[in-house]
Amino acid sequence: MRITVLGKSPSWSDAGGACSGYLVEEAGTALVLECGNGVFGKLREHRRYGEIDAVVISHLHADHFLDLVPFSYALSYGPGAGGARPALHLPPGGRAGLRRVVGTWGPEELVEGAFTVREYDPGETLEIGPLRVRFTPVPHFTVTHAVQVSDRAGARFTFGADTGPSDDLVAFAAGTDLLMLEATVAEPDAEPRGHLTPAEAGEHAARAGARRLVVTHLTDEADPAWALREARGAYDGPVELAAESAVYEL
Ligand SMILES: [Zn+2]
Ligand SMILES: [Zn+2]
Repeated sequence: MRITVLGKSPSWSDAGGACSGYLVEEAGTALVLECGNGVFGKLREHRRYGEIDAVVISHLHADHFLDLVPFSYALSYGPGAGGARPALHLPPGGRAGLRRVVGTWGPEELVEGAFTVREYDPGETLEIGPLRVRFTPVPHFTVTHAVQVSDRAGARFTFGADTGPSDDLVAFAAGTDLLMLEATVAEPDAEPRGHLTPAEAGEHAARAGARRLVVTHLTDEADPAWALREARGAYDGPVELAAESAVYEL
């Protein structure tokens, strides 16, 4: 499995950067995990949008879904319009949420006309070509799910989405090959928690026994050396900060 970072900014974009988006590829299958603002243009630097098999969204915050809008316009009006519609897997309630957003200026069916839209049941396992996708709810400010993608060889990529501290996430990520965790805040945020610090990302990776940690959703206005130090203070394994176009092979 090959994972490419398309965007890693938090809810305000890095200079020249995109919000959350990760391209997961395996044996000809292409999955886009998260499609925040700026991601569609970054995706186009790596793959033809008409080749994407499926999109999975963890939660309906702008920095995780907003570029479904240009993606839908491309599929509807671009040169390849009318081709096979990629699957779009939304969290429960996502269909109505997207209808409200795009309905503010045009037809509510924009996204449903471009993608085959469905809402996942967090208890189910999706099969997308050779990839299996599982979910677990995590504490955030709206319905949100961590996502785990595994391939037929057994490699596992676990993405924490946006989350506060979570024992369920630690259990879900147990023994994962690559754990990608957000570190949005420098200090623990107010209760009820909805984000992690870099140190907490490290603690979660250590408790999960993850083989490798990638810290993401960290603003470019934070000191990267500090963030790495904090994460490494809690976790002995390899740690990196997510960067656009970084590639991880599992
Ligand atoms: Zn976010
Ligand atoms: Zn969020």
